[in-house]
Amino acid sequence: MNKKKQIKDKRGLIIFDLDGTLYKLRGGSYSKSPLKKKVISNVKKYISVNLSCGLVKARNILKKIQREYGEEISIGLEKEFGLDRYNYFNTVWNISAHGLVRKTRSLRVTLLKLKRQYRLVILSDAPKIWIHNVLIELQIIDIFKNAIFSGEGDLRKGSENAFSNIVKLLKVKPRDCIAVGDQERTDIIPAKKLGMRTIFVHRKNVSSSANANIKEIQNLADAISRLDKKYNF
Ligand SMILES: [Mg+2]
Repeated sequence: MNKKKQIKDKRGLIIFDLDGTLYKLRGGSYSKSPLKKKVISNVKKYISVNLSCGLVKARNILKKIQREYGEEISIGLEKEFGLDRYNYFNTVWNISAHGLVRKTRSLRVTLLKLKRQYRLVILSDAPKIWIHNVLIELQIIDIFKNAIFSGEGDLRKGSENAFSNIVKLLKVKPRDCIAVGDQERTDIIPAKKLGMRTIFVHRKNVSSSANANIKEIQNLADAISRLDKKYNF
């Protein structure tokens, strides 16, 4: 079978969230993680270098930005000081994921099995460089080569435009897409609104909006088959 035919024969597209779905951060949430500490330390250095000031002044500038822009530090620095957002991400977020992420059991095997039948992409609001470093640490970078949609630009998952962008770029129908993630607001609700099937992955919580709930990513193939039967795919 030639490659073109193989791709055509694939049954649909799976859109994976990354953080919290394909791996868990050490420390639990981002706000409690050692990753956040590294990011904040890098931001201070970045401000100090780019605005030619000492670290104390850099810390005060950062505090002011955080008060006004919350977690959107890149947007704040761009608007207030004209610092380029892409340069910011590539400097501040160029952090090795080694020791910062907890690997999911048999993730690679699970994804390779799914890849026989589906096209797989990652859609994350995180910067591309961090996604890249995480995928290297999880040893799955080859599986998602050229299939990473990241969050440096203005598209955001919560406002649906990140999902509709994929539909447009990859020329797929929403009904042929399955969105998989651990956050109802950003992974499930906007995808469902567009007409995608949705699967919520969480060890403890259950989503009433999602078409299916699973506790671990290893259960994804079974959950999709059940959905296929239910919705007659
Ligand atoms: Mg997530």
